Amino acid sequence: MVAATQVEQTTWYRCEKCGLVLATKLDAEQHEEWCAGDLPSYCW
Ligand SMILES: [Zn+2]
Repeated sequence: MVAATQVEQTTWYRCEKCGLVLATKLDAEQHEEWCAGDLPSYCW
């Protein structure tokens, strides 16, 4: 699931499968739909 994190009045959304942090909840939810659970190949 997506975990919301507050950093200096900005909310970030972290994928709990791979740890990737996204700026919007929509991005995070879309990412999670095709997240494999491991570190993604597109991730640096
Ligand atoms: Zn992920």
